[in-house]
Amino acid sequence: MKKIIITGGAGFIGSHVVRRFVKNYPDYSIINLDKLTYAGNLANLKDIEHEPNYKFVKGDIVDIGFIEELFAAENPDAVIHLAAESHVDRSITNPLEFVMTNVVGTVNLLNAARQNWKGKYDETRFYHISTDEVYGTLGEDGMFTEETAYDPHSPYSASKASSDHFVRAYQDTYGMNTVISNCSNNYGSFHFPEKLIPLAINNIKQNKPVPVYGKGENIRDWLWVEDHARAIDVIFHTAKPGTTYNIGGHNEWKNIDLIKLLCSILDKKLGRAEGESAKLITFVTDRAGHDLRYAIDATKLKNELGWVPGITFEEGLEKTVDWYLANEEWLNDVTSGHYQQYYNDQYNGR
Ligand code: NAD
Repeated sequence: MKKIIITGGAGFIGSHVVRRFVKNYPDYSIINLDKLTYAGNLANLKDIEHEPNYKFVKGDIVDIGFIEELFAAENPDAVIHLAAESHVDRSITNPLEFVMTNVVGTVNLLNAARQNWKGKYDETRFYHISTDEVYGTLGEDGMFTEETAYDPHSPYSASKASSDHFVRAYQDTYGMNTVISNCSNNYGSFHFPEKLIPLAINNIKQNKPVPVYGKGENIRDWLWVEDHARAIDVIFHTAKPGTTYNIGGHNEWKNIDLIKLLCSILDKKLGRAEGESAKLITFVTDRAGHDLRYAIDATKLKNELGWVPGITFEEGLEKTVDWYLANEEWLNDVTSGHYQQYYNDQYNGR
């Protein structure tokens, strides 16, 4: 039996990864280690919480004593590390929290794994999940490859870049078996509604203004979260030690075009006249240091490990909108309390 600690398993992407591994690998034992910050929500995993190969452990990866005890007690064979502070806007207001969780937390996990796995690096694996934002920004042309030099611009991407460097350093210095993947923007179910797509769906549904940074000219490459979880599965099982893979959807959208598409999907679903929801679009002051364009070249992953996205953006977006419309209770729960305060501070109550 393989025992895997998945960190950040109560978050958006982590919950999809945990679900996939619990369901597809009944002979694995999956430990979901999560601090349950505002972004962590055990309701994301209700359908698998009683599975015999699943266990939840609440804890902070910044707490080295706790992490060392957990590794000694559980003796895991692998770590899939997703726990992070993940929202760029929050990193601008509180960079230190991002350094603590994303950098110190990652080094704590590496240290605990190294102590626990000494002499067993052939049978163990530390898989670090990262972002394309470490590469900085693109102009109108070109794509990020695995060889693109790191050039992070936000405290979030700087902290993720730093954690990537530490993971590679532990591979090179101590011979640990590590793998890294850098993925583009994800969308799908269980996405906390501070991020563009769920925030827009929620506001359109409630007939509230939909804030769009600057003129909405920024371009992002979107990938359906379940395609990301499948890529993580493939990379975890087949990538060679010390390798890096970019994961992306070859699916670039200007923010404003994406929001207009969402408005038109929701016009139909909510029985509104075409163009009605688009009236809610409200341009707000641009984010400081806002990267213009991200685009991932995922050719290496396709050629070496055979992964390609499974569904089109139109299909994925439709599924996502349907999920948010059908899961009002989840949405209401996560948008109450602290979220309201954050939202008011961020968008001046708009
Ligand atoms: P998320 O914010 O939805 O979830 C993060 C999870 O980590 C939460 O459950 C939270 O409770 C947990 N966590 C935070 N701090 C912790 C700590 N100190 N100790 C233990 N648990 C802690 O994030 P996400 O969008 O699911 O992203 C997951 C990972 O994927 C992150 O590492 C992120 O950098 C990376 N990533 C995200 C995207 C994206 O589009 N969302 C794209 C590429 C890479």
